Amino acid sequence: MRLEIANIGNPILRQVAKEVTIKQIDSEEVQTLIDNLIETMHFANGAGLAANQVSVPWRIFVVEVKDNARYPYKPDIPLTVLINPQIEFLTEDRFDNYEGCLSVPNLRGVVERCPEIKIKGFNRAGEPVKILAKGITAGTFQHEYDHLNGLLFLDKVKDTKSLCTWGEFKKHHEDDFIKQVEKVVARYGS
Ligand code: ZN
Repeated sequence: MRLEIANIGNPILRQVAKEVTIKQIDSEEVQTLIDNLIETMHFANGAGLAANQVSVPWRIFVVEVKDNARYPYKPDIPLTVLINPQIEFLTEDRFDNYEGCLSVPNLRGVVERCPEIKIKGFNRAGEPVKILAKGITAGTFQHEYDHLNGLLFLDKVKDTKSLCTWGEFKKHHEDDFIKQVEKVVARYGS
């Protein structure tokens, strides 16, 4: 079932989401939520979606990039469900990522992200998983992780002059950003 996505201003987006117990992962409630998160992310052409974006304050997010219409330059990411994720930065390096968010309609801005991270958490079967993510893909995971801590990309925009609508991004910033993305992918992989 498709769920309604909470927009900026909705207090649910500012709550720190709660850990899910291993026992809960197996429940119909959590499994249905995960199915609905995936369906909602697909419908909205998102690269990821966190549970609190659909008004459920649990530490769960889904990520998938495959020929994404919203983000045509993003390297593919296989469908990934992460429960109680933890992120470790593996380098001091940072790169500039032009981000958007399904909960912040028609706005994009530049956020600094770590290009090499390790993510630990559980999959929907309740099994521990460990993922190494690089470059733009690492940025996508950090964006979703921030949601679980009540943070939006806007909180991390270092220069508010980078803020723009999607239309103006396409007109004025996309070409330059695609060149930057190519450099990040060449340097760090994805
Ligand atoms: Zn978001």
